[in-house]
Amino acid sequence: MPFLVREGLFFGNITDAAQTLTSPSNSSGITHILSLLSSASISFFSDWKPDIKIPTEEIKKVYVGEIDGEGKRSLSPEKLFYSLEMAGVDLKLKRMAVPLRDTEDEDLLDYLDICLDFIDEGRKEGGVLVHCFAGVSRSAAIVTAYLMRTEKKSQEGHSYKQGEKVDSSIFEKDPGLRPESNAAEVTTKMEKPNTVYRCKKCRRIVAMPENVVSHTAGEGESSFGWQKRKSGNPYNRYGEVECTSMFVEPLKWMTTVEEGALEGKLTCVKCDARLGYFNWAGIQCSCGSWITPAFQIHKNKVDISKELP
Ligand SMILES: [Zn+2]
Ligand SMILES: [Zn+2]
Repeated sequence: MPFLVREGLFFGNITDAAQTLTSPSNSSGITHILSLLSSASISFFSDWKPDIKIPTEEIKKVYVGEIDGEGKRSLSPEKLFYSLEMAGVDLKLKRMAVPLRDTEDEDLLDYLDICLDFIDEGRKEGGVLVHCFAGVSRSAAIVTAYLMRTEKKSQEGHSYKQGEKVDSSIFEKDPGLRPESNAAEVTTKMEKPNTVYRCKKCRRIVAMPENVVSHTAGEGESSFGWQKRKSGNPYNRYGEVECTSMFVEPLKWMTTVEEGALEGKLTCVKCDARLGYFNWAGIQCSCGSWITPAFQIHKNKVDISKELP
């Protein structure tokens, strides 16, 4: 089953794509498929399962040499850059296939724009499924880049590339580094004690309630972007299912995130204790909800304490 990252944006593997292409009516609302596969052949299913025949009608094929606008590509003109076709049992699905290698150093920038524009078009017309063979690294990188472009979590015009440093100005400020003067000023006003989340091992502040991103417990295939909960239980809206993690915004102490990885550990900046995990393509909470992108802190690694501001 492809999972819903945003309204009209699905993320999956080759089986999800095959199922969408072979079912006569698809209730998911998918109208577009973006295939990121290692074969230059657009009929990739023949390599995968030779008995499956999917009707296709070619719209166009674009070769590397043909679209050399910047004088940057000097590869053989025979190399397929991408192909566009109508596909599926009633030829109603528009599919773009981009041949890629699944290597760490694959430069996403070459084909990023055409992929992101195709995702935009697909979401406007119904829904788009982004997939590669296993549904992991390449499609995750494209979905991540798309989210960063559309949700302005990146500076304008910045293209995401795995391993490239993320501009940390998009992160929320580190709640563990609050200016002293400000704290003293607030104390004189005798405000209510604040709840803070501290590293269990060294007591450093790692998050404030306002950094917590809410999600609805048990919603298996949805995600909730960056909306924050206004009051009550910060973990989920109904509290029926116990979430063993909380999800926060990217914060300035998350150095592994800043270094540009797609996923990785989150460790305490003071004592190096493991606090959680992050994945720009999403993480499933113990309650069943998918949170995308996800900056997850295990609740058993932090203490909730009240303190005067
Ligand atoms: Zn949950
Ligand atoms: Zn710590």
